[in-house]
Amino acid sequence: MWQGATKSAHRRELSDCDPVSGVMPAKYNSVISIRTLLLSGIVALLFGITSQSLAANDIRLPDIGNPSGNVLTPAQEKRLGRAFMRSIRSSLPVIQDPLLSAYIQSLGERIVQANENASGGFQFFLIDAQQVNAFAGPGGHIGVYAGLITTTESESELASVLAHEVAHVTQKHLVRTYDAVQTMSLPAAAVAIAAIAIGAATDNPDMALAAATGVQAGMMQREINFTRSHEEEADSIGIKTLAEAGFDPTAMPVFFSRMGKASRLYDNGKLPEFLRTHPVTTNRIADAYGRAGTFPYRQRADSLDYHLARERLRVMAFKDPREGIDFYSKSLNDGRYRNEEAHRYGYVLSLIGNRQYEQAREQLERLTRESPEQVEYLVAGSDLEKLSGDPQAGLEILKTGLKTHPANYPLTIYYAQALLDIGQPQKVIPLLEQQLQGRPDSVLAYKLLAQAAGDSGRGSEGHGYLAEYYYLIGDLKSALNHLETALRDRDLSYYESARMAARLKEIRQEKEDLEAREK
Ligand SMILES: [Zn+2]
Repeated sequence: MWQGATKSAHRRELSDCDPVSGVMPAKYNSVISIRTLLLSGIVALLFGITSQSLAANDIRLPDIGNPSGNVLTPAQEKRLGRAFMRSIRSSLPVIQDPLLSAYIQSLGERIVQANENASGGFQFFLIDAQQVNAFAGPGGHIGVYAGLITTTESESELASVLAHEVAHVTQKHLVRTYDAVQTMSLPAAAVAIAAIAIGAATDNPDMALAAATGVQAGMMQREINFTRSHEEEADSIGIKTLAEAGFDPTAMPVFFSRMGKASRLYDNGKLPEFLRTHPVTTNRIADAYGRAGTFPYRQRADSLDYHLARERLRVMAFKDPREGIDFYSKSLNDGRYRNEEAHRYGYVLSLIGNRQYEQAREQLERLTRESPEQVEYLVAGSDLEKLSGDPQAGLEILKTGLKTHPANYPLTIYYAQALLDIGQPQKVIPLLEQQLQGRPDSVLAYKLLAQAAGDSGRGSEGHGYLAEYYYLIGDLKSALNHLETALRDRDLSYYESARMAARLKEIRQEKEDLEAREK
C-alpha cells in the first residue's frame, strides 16, 4: 500500500527539483516541526525585509562566529554544527542545487586550505535570498546569501567575505555565544545559535532570539555583539588568507568601500541594528587597504566557475524564462557582458526553460567547443537530451562525464536522477551511498535514495531514507513516523531493524530535548 503511494510522492518531490532551479521548493520549509514553529516568527521577519533588501543600501557585513573549542570537544562541536544546519534548513531556503553547492564549497575549500589555523571539514552553503550577507555557525558551517554572490564584482571580492568568515571560526570569536547557551541541551543550543545567525542576518536579533528560545534576548544579544577587535582580526587574517590563496588581497577593502558608499545613502536613523554596531567605517576600509598593501599586488582573472554560478543564480531569479531570453539575447548581441561564455550559458538555460531545444542546442555547442569538460555544460547537455525525448543519450553524457570527473557531486546526483528516469533504480543505491561518505548531509542524495529504494520494491529501506531526509530538514516528527513504519516491516533483517531502532531512540531523545526547552 505504502509503496505505490510513496513512489508517486517521491516522484512529485523530485519533479519539483528541476535541474535549472534546483532549489528546495518552499513547501519543504513549511513542513510543521518544532523548529519550524519556533522559528516561524523569524522566517516572517526575514522575508518581510527581503523585498527591500535588494536595494544597494543593504550592506550588513557577515558575522557570527562559533562556539569555542575550549568548551566543546571536536566531536561535540561537530554534532552541534550538524544540529545547527538542520535548524537552518528548517527555517531558511537553503539552496540544494548541486552545481551551485559544489561551486561555493570548492571556493570555500581554497580559502580554508590557505588559512594555516583552519582544520577539519568546513561546509559552505547558499541561501536563496537577496541579502548581501554571510554568517558562520558551529562546526565550520558557513552560510552565504545568494545576494552576496550577485553583488560582488569579482571572485576575489566573494572570496574576501568567505576568508573573513573562516577567520571568525578559526579565531573562535563566538565563545561568548556558547557561554550564553551552555545551559541548554545540544539540540536546543543549536536552535538558539541558528536563531542568532538568522537574527544577525535580519535586522532584529533580539526578536529572533526571543521567538526562538524564550531566553532573555537582550542579555544574550550583549553576549554576541562583535567587538571591533574581532572584526579587525577577521579582516586582517582574511586578507592574509586571500593573498595566500592567490586572490587579490585588495578585493576586501574594495568591496567594503563600495558597500560603505552604499550605506551613506541610508538615513542613519534607519540603519539596521547590525550595521549600527558593526559599521563599515572609513577607518576599517583604510586599515584593510593598509594590510592589503603589504602583500604583492596580484591581478587575478575570475574563474569561469564563478561567472557560471552568477548567471545560474540570475536565471533562477527570473520569473519567466522569456525574461532570460530577452536579457541574454540583448547582452550577447550588444557585447554587454563581463564574461561571454557565462552569458551564453544563461541564454542556454533560459532557452531550455522555454522549451526552445533546437536553439539551446546550437548555443550549447558553441560552449562545449570551448570547454568540453565543463560540468555545467555536461549537465545542461544531458538535460537537453532528456527533455527533447532521448533520456538514454542524456544519461550517457553524464556517465562519460563521470569518467573524467570521478565521484563529482553534481554529475553523480544528475546521473542518479537519470538512472531513475530510465527505470534502473538498483544502480542508484550504491552510487549515492558512496557519495554520502563525503557529504553525509546531502538532502538531495537521501531524497533520491528514498525514491530508488521505493522503485526497487525495498519499501522499508525507502522509509529509512525518507526518515533521514526529514531529519536533515529539521522535521523530526515525520522522521520518527517513517522509522516507525519501516520497523513494522517483518522482512527487515535483524541488522537493519537494530540500526533503525537505535536511530529512532536517538531522534526521539533529540525531540524531547527540544520540547523540554519550550516549556
Ligand atoms: Zn565579521
